[in-house]
Amino acid sequence: MTRKVSMFIDGEEVTSQCTQWIPVTDPATQEVICEAPNATTEEVNRAVASAKKAFETWKNVPVTKRARMMLTYQHLLKKHHDEIAEILAEETGKNFEDAKGDVWRGIEVAEHAANMPSLMMGETVENVANGVDTYSMIQPLGVCAGITPFNFPAMIPLWMFPMAVVCGNTFVLKPSEQDPNTPMRLAELFYEAGFPKDVLQVIHGGKDQVNQILNHEDIEAISFVGSVPVGEHIYKTGTDNLKRVQAFAGAKNHMVVMPDANKNQVINNIAGAACGAAGQRCMAISVAVLVGEAQNWIDEIKGKMAEMKPGHWKKPESFYGPLISPQAKQKVEALIAQGEKEGANLLLDGRGLEVDGYPNGNWIGPTLFTDVTTDMEIYKTEIFGPVLCVISADTLEEAIEMINDNPYGNGTSIFTSSGAAARKFQHEIKVGQVGINIPIPVPLPFFSFTGWRKSFYGDQHAYGKQAVRFYTETKTVTARWFEDDIPDDAAPNATIN
Ligand code: NAD
Repeated sequence: MTRKVSMFIDGEEVTSQCTQWIPVTDPATQEVICEAPNATTEEVNRAVASAKKAFETWKNVPVTKRARMMLTYQHLLKKHHDEIAEILAEETGKNFEDAKGDVWRGIEVAEHAANMPSLMMGETVENVANGVDTYSMIQPLGVCAGITPFNFPAMIPLWMFPMAVVCGNTFVLKPSEQDPNTPMRLAELFYEAGFPKDVLQVIHGGKDQVNQILNHEDIEAISFVGSVPVGEHIYKTGTDNLKRVQAFAGAKNHMVVMPDANKNQVINNIAGAACGAAGQRCMAISVAVLVGEAQNWIDEIKGKMAEMKPGHWKKPESFYGPLISPQAKQKVEALIAQGEKEGANLLLDGRGLEVDGYPNGNWIGPTLFTDVTTDMEIYKTEIFGPVLCVISADTLEEAIEMINDNPYGNGTSIFTSSGAAARKFQHEIKVGQVGINIPIPVPLPFFSFTGWRKSFYGDQHAYGKQAVRFYTETKTVTARWFEDDIPDDAAPNATIN
């Protein structure tokens, strides 16, 4: 019998009472690994009610104690790093190095969350009037929820609940139904680290469970990462229900290649950033803008991309794995066909690729288009596969204008040896994360993950100081203590208005 994925509700590991289960498949074989539940309405309500009750005690646990538990959690995550990466590789198909990277980037956020006492420090101004001080303090919100995508099943849940709970909130996580085993293991280790079990609840499902979260009156804040249409729905519905929402969405990331760039670096980085994780990264490079003479490097780029062979995660030579599902593969293949139809030049075609021993995998080989124009569907749509579109530009100004006209603003990079060109690019580009001779500029957790425009809806971003702001309220106190000799003009209404 197929294994049923459990949930963590009200401090217990439970099997859902639902009647509809979602098969979780190995994307290299289509074998069903297990089935994830569609949590019932009652189960979601029970999880939120338990998190609400837990908040009443959890918020009063000293922040130093909460941070120390997070240190223990960070230690446990490190200890189980490879084991989590194996679970992750099995359900996503990511090659093992990538799977380990997915876990590691999450561990770094747990590490950062363990610094919470200093991150939660307020501000003070003494003597705003005679004998009157004003100071601010940061307090948690209550029950927060997280809705996460399939492509980073360790890193993205870890962007959310470690920061939220060390701030003093309780958390309801609804991970992707396509790879629920990794977040379940993260939760088990979280409880093992000593956190009370009702501080983090894990429920499973899809659209209906998400909509219940969006409409639940006891949830104060929602963190979402996923595609643009779902992100827009989450942001609109969540804020319509007067909740705090941060929604990280899709992307179309450009790499600008100047003719003075180091050619070898460009070729290696461009191929890796386009094909790594089968292009299923929100920071993958999907458009290369070759400026001037750099347009002559296309043969070398093609040669390097052709070397990037997909394969099973257990084989060390596999540069990347399969796409997550047959539907994802069909979508990418349809977009490749559309690109050909619209007149782009298909230099490498990854369709129809077979991988020895895995005839049913969702494989797509490296795919390269040149002569792409900005009105083509392959330029406008997030493909989310190992597909690179090459566009030519005569000048840096033209490249900047093109990127700024694209509605997405997650990541971008420039490869150049000119400080002036790099400075101009970083200043003028309307994209939230910029790499200079770095293809995928994902900030470490003491900064924040700062997508812009259609790639992000909200005000405060993930991790770093912005996440602390997102998961807390600021309370400002103005205080006066009477002494016998205090002058009359100390009355606040007389002096501060
Ligand atoms: P998705 O939008 O399909 O799913 C994300 C989450 O939303 C899942 O938990 C899913 O169950 C839920 N969901 C799906 N359809 C829904 C609906 N109609 N109503 C309510 N909830 C729904 O995204 P995905 O395919 O899992 O992930 C890939 C996408 O995520 C890509 O677009 C990628 O760019 C984006 N992404 C963005 C970032 C970022 O930081 N900007 C990071 C990673 C992934």
